[in-house]
Formats: sequence, C-alpha cells, structure tokens
Amino acid sequence: RKTYERSIEMALTDSLTGLYNRRYLTAHLDGQIGRVERGGKSLSMIMFDIDFFKRVNDSHGHAAGDSVLKELAERVSGNLRSFDTVARMGGEEFVIVMPDTNVGIACAVAERLRQDIENNGFTVPELSTTLPITISIGVATARENGDTSESILKRADDALYHAKDTGRNRAVLNTDGVFESITPVLQEEVAGGGR
Ligand code: GH3
Ligand code: MG
Ligand code: MG
Repeated sequence: RKTYERSIEMALTDSLTGLYNRRYLTAHLDGQIGRVERGGKSLSMIMFDIDFFKRVNDSHGHAAGDSVLKELAERVSGNLRSFDTVARMGGEEFVIVMPDTNVGIACAVAERLRQDIENNGFTVPELSTTLPITISIGVATARENGDTSESILKRADDALYHAKDTGRNRAVLNTDGVFESITPVLQEEVAGGGR
C-alpha cells in the first residue's frame, strides 16, 4: 500500500520541489476548464520563469540553483489560497492555476508575486549575502468557449515570452493576442535610457 501511494506521488509530483508536475497540471486544468465552460466560473493562469537562471548555476554552482528552486517553490505555495495549484512545468518554469479568479485579481497576484521575488533575496548555503532573483510572468484567463489546457497554456507562454522580450522582471497579460504590461513601465526605460 505504501509503495503504491509512493509511486502515484512520484508520477504526479516533482521530486526537487515537491510541487505538482506538468502531467498533473494538464489533467487538473482540463477539469477546471470544464467548470468554466459549464458557466459562471472564472479561471486564471500565471506562468513564470526565472530570469537568467543559468547565471546562478554558472556563478554559484548547481546546488545553489537547486536551493533557489526549492525556496521559490516554498514561497509561492505559501502565498496562495488552498485551492490554487502550483506546478513545476520543467526546468525553472512554473504555472499557477487559480479557480474563481478574474483577470483583475490574476494581474494583482502576478504583480505582487513579481515584487516579492524582486524585493526579497534568496538564501543560498555558503553565500554570506542573499542572492537577488527576478522572474518574468505571463498571465492568461480562460475563455468560456473552446478553450483547452493547451490553448490557455499557450496564451500564458506567449505572454511570458513577451515579458522576457521586453526586458524581463515584468508581468504581461495576454488578452486574445494583445499584450499589456501589468508592471508599470518606467518612462526612462521606454525612452531607452537607464543604466
Ligand atoms: P531567461 O531569462 O531567458 O529565462 O534565461 P535563463 O538563463 O533563465 O534561461 P535558460 O533556458 O538559458 O536556462 C535555464 C537554466 O536552468 C539552464 C539549466 O541549467 C537550469 N536548470 C534547469 N533545471 C534545473 C534544475 O533542476 N536545477 C538547477 N540547478 N538548474 C536547472
Ligand atoms: Mg529562465
Ligand atoms: Mg526556462
């Protein structure tokens, strides 16, 4: 019985972070989208990816990278409601599925998460100071008709790509292919100035 439960857990979760894996998330998402289609329910998704994570591994070692991934997973899980689901999709990319969450709330959650990561460095063993980390975020909301787990994941992924492409450390909303920065964009950045 124990062995059986353990094998199910291994099939659905990620061993480094303890979060759900891609397989679980996709199955769960299909069920949630069904609820939206049957009416009256909203559903939003946040997809995020660590900025320049390769540099963390290169500068401080793979173990330091692993510890950042673990701390990130803990912080994110600790900041969500019990019915929100977080999954590690692979590498340093994560997805949060938020039932009964409209676009405005999803954007607020995304921006709060981005700021929390930016403003609170990560603890890495053998490093005397905390390590600054930023993430880029894509946000998408389920459609009432014809959405699938793949199509909503694709919209969030496109928004995330847009966030990376426009400078990283920002959250971007994708509404039917129209991208909008949720993170206030500084005037000097727009003008191409800054550091
Ligand atoms: P970007 O801002 O464009 O996302 O840059 P990036 O460096 O984060 O992205 P890239 O895809 O080039 O690199 C991701 C890195 O994440 C490469 C890989 O070594 C590292 N990585 C993936 N999974 C793990 C893991 O489980 N542990 C550690 N330590 N590193 C991982
Ligand atoms: Mg990355
Ligand atoms: Mg990545």
